[in-house]
Amino acid sequence: MDGETNIEKLRELFEQFPGIGRRQAKRFVYFLIRKDIHYIQTLIDEIAKVKSEVTQCPHCLRYYPKTRGEHGICQHCNQKDGTMLMLVEKESDLENVEKMKLYEGKYFVLNNLSPHEREEYHALKKRIRYGITREGLRELIFGFSLKPELEHEQLRIQSFLRRDFPEIRITALGRGLSSGIELEYSDGETLKYALTSRIELKKKEDG
Ligand SMILES: [Zn+2]
Repeated sequence: MDGETNIEKLRELFEQFPGIGRRQAKRFVYFLIRKDIHYIQTLIDEIAKVKSEVTQCPHCLRYYPKTRGEHGICQHCNQKDGTMLMLVEKESDLENVEKMKLYEGKYFVLNNLSPHEREEYHALKKRIRYGITREGLRELIFGFSLKPELEHEQLRIQSFLRRDFPEIRITALGRGLSSGIELEYSDGETLKYALTSRIELKKKEDG
């Protein structure tokens, strides 16, 4: 039966969404079937618009509206101070740091790397190399929240930084008022403290 095939096809498409299982995918399909045609048309149009109007910045990996970038890179990467580069986990962390207007440097969003890239970090290494030769990059700041998996990742990145880029300073945000600073939710005071009390990650061998 045709209707059933359509339902199955749509379900399979939703199942490809991150974190969506078979049952949830089916609920999405029935939700859409019950919605009116105006809703459906808006949804289709908006998806198409996002796809055509938003692009990824090759320097920081964030997604931005094409109209707000220049020379194929985003606003931040065009305007900000390239001598500092902050590694953040996700775009919402970047947005929160930006909102506080306490940091003038550039960013790199790790979660926007593909899982394969996250094994080797070619894009990050390329970005750092570009920073050193073209922008006078001097300091790389780990702007991570305190989570075990991120600490592990930080150690992996640190070890290649020391090996491949001995000329740059490596720091991490100071751990302020609470034991686990969540960058995304930090207020201005916490973030200011974290930035001004940056910890120098000394040259030593990583275990
Ligand atoms: Zn950018």
